[in-house]
Amino acid sequence: MDNAVAAPPPAIEVNNLSTRFGDHVVHSDVSLSINQGEIFALIGGSGSGKSTLLREMILLQNPNAGAIKVLGTDLKNLDEAQALALRQRWGVMFQHGGLFGSLTVLENVSLPLREHTPLDDALINDIAAWKIAMTGLKPEVGAQYPAQLSGGMMKRASLTRAMALDPELLFLDEPTAGLDPESAGGVDQLVKKLRDLFGLTIVIITHDLDLLWQVTDRVAVLGAGTVQGIGSMAELSHMDNPVIRPFFDGARGRSAQPSEVASSKPK
Ligand code: ADP
Ligand code: MG
Repeated sequence: MDNAVAAPPPAIEVNNLSTRFGDHVVHSDVSLSINQGEIFALIGGSGSGKSTLLREMILLQNPNAGAIKVLGTDLKNLDEAQALALRQRWGVMFQHGGLFGSLTVLENVSLPLREHTPLDDALINDIAAWKIAMTGLKPEVGAQYPAQLSGGMMKRASLTRAMALDPELLFLDEPTAGLDPESAGGVDQLVKKLRDLFGLTIVIITHDLDLLWQVTDRVAVLGAGTVQGIGSMAELSHMDNPVIRPFFDGARGRSAQPSEVASSKPK
């Protein structure tokens, strides 16, 4: 008998993906694998195909070739029931929040529960209120409308809604964009807390160097249609690649690095 414990399968596997719009090639050959429980970031210049890759991972768009497996399921040729079942296992926070302006925060968070569970209204209310508290919002925020929220509160409310159905996977597009440093730091800590509490796998698109250094486990750098580098920020900081260097060089890149990394010599 083999007593070895099998490594858990990856949460997401992308193999030899290619995507083009007309004759504009966005991904020519993208492969990467994201572990369960990992906080994983996609970075790269504007137009490098980060959002497109994320949209492909959540069944909003199809690649031209290659394969994507999410939670063990190949995304190709799913029927509607299979796609719906899979969609309920992840939460998504879009760049501009995506909350319904005509609904209160509590109603926004309740919506996925109303649509996808048979729970009664009283229980849905309790669950939504509990989730709102969990993301660090005061109970009275539940009765407010999105237009009344600060940027940081809006991000927390969107995250709360993404967490409504107890997802295994969370996709976040620019979760700290447009926030002041203190609010951004709060969102960083919240992302970490959600992973630590629930063992979530979290995929983030971001340019935020503090978020990258302080919260992510591994990062993939997209550029010229492929993955230019993949590893921890400390590992990437030693890579000599013109697509990767800008994240580490210059005043902004250097100031975000923990001092022990910034001062260590490249290997
Ligand atoms: P990123 O998020 O890295 O900035 P995107 O994935 O949004 O990049 O876009 C990658 C490239 O694909 C860009 O050149 C963009 O203009 C193009 N693109 C994205 N979506 C579409 C679309 N639906 N139709 C045509 N071109 C698109
Ligand atoms: Mg984008």
